[in-house]
Amino acid sequence: MQELRGIGSSLGIAIGPVFIARSQHAMIDAMRSTNVDHEITTYRDAKGRIERELAEVVQRAQLHSPTLASIVETHGLIVGDPIVSQDIESMIRSGDSAAHAVATEFSKQARIMLLSTNSLIRDRAADIQQVQHRLLAELQAGDSLEVPTQPSIIVAHSLSPSQMFTYAEDGALGFICEDGGIDSHISIIARDLGLPALVSVHGATTCLDQGAMVILDATANMCLIDPSQAQLVQYQDLIEREAVRIQRQRAPVQGAITMRDGQEVFVLANVDNASSAIHANAYNAHGIGLVRTEMMLSGDGTFPSIEEQTAWYAKILRTYQHGPVTFRVFDIGGDKFGSYSPYKEENPALGLRGIRFLLAQPKIFEDQIIALLRASEQRRIRIMLPMITSYAEVMSAREIIDACRVHVESTLGNVIDVQIGIMIETPASAVMADVLAKNVDFISIGTNDLTQYTLAADRTNELVSNMYDCIHPSVIRLMLGVVQAARESQIDVNICGEMAAQLMATEVLLGIGVKHFSVTPHVIPELQRRIQTLTTSECCELVEHVVACRTSDEVRAVIHEHQKQRNNGLSHEDR
Ligand code: PEP
Ligand code: MG
Repeated sequence: MQELRGIGSSLGIAIGPVFIARSQHAMIDAMRSTNVDHEITTYRDAKGRIERELAEVVQRAQLHSPTLASIVETHGLIVGDPIVSQDIESMIRSGDSAAHAVATEFSKQARIMLLSTNSLIRDRAADIQQVQHRLLAELQAGDSLEVPTQPSIIVAHSLSPSQMFTYAEDGALGFICEDGGIDSHISIIARDLGLPALVSVHGATTCLDQGAMVILDATANMCLIDPSQAQLVQYQDLIEREAVRIQRQRAPVQGAITMRDGQEVFVLANVDNASSAIHANAYNAHGIGLVRTEMMLSGDGTFPSIEEQTAWYAKILRTYQHGPVTFRVFDIGGDKFGSYSPYKEENPALGLRGIRFLLAQPKIFEDQIIALLRASEQRRIRIMLPMITSYAEVMSAREIIDACRVHVESTLGNVIDVQIGIMIETPASAVMADVLAKNVDFISIGTNDLTQYTLAADRTNELVSNMYDCIHPSVIRLMLGVVQAARESQIDVNICGEMAAQLMATEVLLGIGVKHFSVTPHVIPELQRRIQTLTTSECCELVEHVVACRTSDEVRAVIHEHQKQRNNGLSHEDR
């Protein structure tokens, strides 16, 4: 018995035979061709087949994994890009083979993306490479994906989103890939599909034989080859217990969520598009606490028109009708969508990001506000301003929103119910929260950025990842002040950063007075159930100890000790 190690990027355990997925890295047989018409027809046919296949995958994936559906949708746009197609066909006309023209054009596009300083654009290079490999494979083989004849663990060098979905539909038990990191598409999609995945496994496709029995234990970052009978029995038992636990945790919770002392708490969803709003519905979210509107941008540097934006916002509002929807206006700059900013900045994270960018480019801001107000259709609309650092920014933004509201109301002939809120993502806004709270309708704490700016630790820089820690006492103390300021002004305060989804932090957040949590939809039921087991007094008592801590480790130890005592004091049914 041997083992292979990697990074368990989607947790869980699976037992089954290995299925080695055919590589999509096709060879190019001929660089040149004299048969131009034949090459163009071959290219167009292959492109058409892939476009149809991807469109079908998007349709089927929509309900299982909105993330996957939107990635596959992007792949469809890449294959069908008219400019890319024109370039490929003109290369074929000048004597290139279809395969060589495809490889040249897509490699050029990927190189351009890789040169970008924006990590999101760099990530798009991987999408382009996957589409290139798929198109080359289609040009040469013209056949469909080979799938296993029995439920298997899929082992591959790399997998495209549509391949992953096809395998998942076919009963895949898990994925082992040589490529990929913790936040690669393979990992994100596996998490969304609820299948275990082990990535960065060197030599997986050569060390594992087709059909060999393996135990994939992503939780322990490894895979056991040819396990013993005793191990199979032990792991089978683990899988069954885990399946029961997950099923219980993921089942939607109906109705109001109250703590054990009767305090009501609201669990909302963070969404990136209309597809993920479907999940907000399915998990009974009490509202949408954050729509990251910049996610509608395609990455080509041009902003959608007012009409296009109106349609995008209206689709989300139509999809989710159970509660309030909070649209955060474009948060551009820093590590996000830098190609949309005309400014060259040495240090964009501290530059014209979020509201600063929008106030410097008022036409972009006004267009977005007009589109949001038009999309509201008699419903209350909540507009949220990112990266606020000053009272002056809030007042300038309010003035623009008010002017747009008057304009839209006069053209539509009805009154628009709009609430304006801010994100607390900078130490300056946290410290000034009492002043800001008096001039807005709600506050939402973005712990991802609040952590990065408080601790001066870039959230994307691995070198300082050990310093980037939302549980740090400085971040918790700032949040405590913000919640108090909101309470004094009698406005809601929501937490929409990743910290809201960390169950380890739930008691601390409740203890500092947070009543609104906004998280990625599939976390909603687990968080709701956790809240239902707690009381306000125990959470407040925990916070008294937490604020006295000097380091993150001390905070963790205090939380851990509290949870241990709590579990010892509770009967089995209470847990
Ligand atoms: C945050 O900063 O916590 C947040 C929710 O915004 P984003 O992650 O989009 O920057
Ligand atoms: Mg942020």
